[in-house]
Amino acid sequence: MMSGLEIRNLHVQIEGKEILKGLTLTVPKGEVHAIMGPNGTGKSTLAYTLMGHPSYEVTEGEVWFNGRNVLEMEVDERSRAGLFLAFQYPVAIPGVTLANFLRTAVNARRRAENPQDKGISIVEFRKLLKERMAALKMDPAFAGRYLNDGFSGGEKKRAEILQMAVLRPEIAILDETDSGLDIDALRIVSEGVNALRGPDLGVLVITHYQRILNYIKPDVVHVMMDGRIVESGGAELALHLEEHGYDWVREKLEER
Ligand code: ADP
Ligand code: MG
Repeated sequence: MMSGLEIRNLHVQIEGKEILKGLTLTVPKGEVHAIMGPNGTGKSTLAYTLMGHPSYEVTEGEVWFNGRNVLEMEVDERSRAGLFLAFQYPVAIPGVTLANFLRTAVNARRRAENPQDKGISIVEFRKLLKERMAALKMDPAFAGRYLNDGFSGGEKKRAEILQMAVLRPEIAILDETDSGLDIDALRIVSEGVNALRGPDLGVLVITHYQRILNYIKPDVVHVMMDGRIVESGGAELALHLEEHGYDWVREKLEER
């Protein structure tokens, strides 16, 4: 059994229209992979499907995570099992601080592993949080903020990265949407991923721009086009795409 995320021949429809058309992709634990592709090619569809969004209907294919069938798992079960989807944080919840929210999430994860778990003590959790925030060079006061209440784009990203640092998922999927990450947010995400990357974490960065890959050096770059992964290579593939665009990939596909 491979440790990590394995997607085989995934077909997904939205409102009867097929968007993913046989996508196959493996992200082993310990590696950073990037998906690049033109707009409208289905990158966000893949992220939403993995997070179990009800509008996305899987008609064919399989998704495995550590030998478990992801498509048969409830949404919260997926995250408790160690699959992290960065945009999967709740909207503003009045009166809940980021620290409280993170502690609840840690306890849910612990109970998923052991139903008898009594949960992390407040003292123990504070220590963990302090440690992880220091490693990410974050101001400890940030954890006292109310969740997403007036968070800027950069702060939302910072909260996501902190959530990742505290939950320690095995696979994290980050969909950098086209809404245009500002430089600050880009830096927070990149530095966070770089600080957390290691043998126990696999990351899938879905991106519309090559820019973020100047900061996060992926082990593998995948090109997605028309609902499939059509090309994979090393970090140099991202640079090549930045310089030459996607036309050469299209031409190559037509020749096949
Ligand atoms: P990408 O992230 O690569 O830009 P998306 O996954 O967002 O691409 O979109 C892929 C295709 O699916 C597009 O043609 C888009 O118009 C369509 N699509 C995405 N979301 C929806 C939706 N909720 N309803 C209908 N069509 C959608
Ligand atoms: Mg998108």
